[in-house]
Amino acid sequence: MDKRYISYNNVHQLCQRAAETLKPLDLDLMIAIGGGGFIPARILRTFLKQQNQPNLRIFAIVLSLYEDLNTVSTQEEQAGAEVKRIQWINYKESGVDLCNKKILIVDEVDDTRTTLHYALRELQKDAARQAREKGLEDPNTQFFVFVLHNKDKPKRAQLPAELMRSNYVVGEQFPDCWIAYPWESTDIVHHQQMAVQQGYDI
Ligand code: 5GP
Repeated sequence: MDKRYISYNNVHQLCQRAAETLKPLDLDLMIAIGGGGFIPARILRTFLKQQNQPNLRIFAIVLSLYEDLNTVSTQEEQAGAEVKRIQWINYKESGVDLCNKKILIVDEVDDTRTTLHYALRELQKDAARQAREKGLEDPNTQFFVFVLHNKDKPKRAQLPAELMRSNYVVGEQFPDCWIAYPWESTDIVHHQQMAVQQGYDI
């Protein structure tokens, strides 16, 4: 499979460019999907800093995909059933409240969209539960998504049309190939050379 090497500089600049769209939204917090969303979220925080306001808080969630689809039938069930939670937000300990917030979900790549679909759906459920606990009818949470790369390919799960229309921010549309990110590299010198050669250093 075609493999494209992405440099740290490229990642940094994709975040910087995306921040031009994201900063005016005046977000309340970020939720980074690990491990690929961690570094982009941290870089974004630098560019999203509002004057006289504290840094945006970043919460980490970690998910893994698994392949056993034998027990589920519909596409919706498949999208959810494939994902396993490794780590989630501890609402009690962190005191984080999703109600009345603008929240950015960050991941490195939207491949089949399964992970993003699962994360958004579960976070929406959490927000609805928190609203009920407070006696609110509606959590009034606005979710946004940022990914460095969205691959042009048929997706296995969908995100709400309205989110895709106005709350979905992409660093770069990408062909359906394997994207090698710098934080996965065990030979960063070679990785960097490849990124320069392929034109993914700026
Ligand atoms: P999904 O298929 O749910 O959109 O993506 C699942 C996960 O697979 C992503 O969060 C990412 O960690 C991994 N993944 C998918 N495509 C690529 C790729 O091209 N490069 C890398 N490094 N990871 C990928």
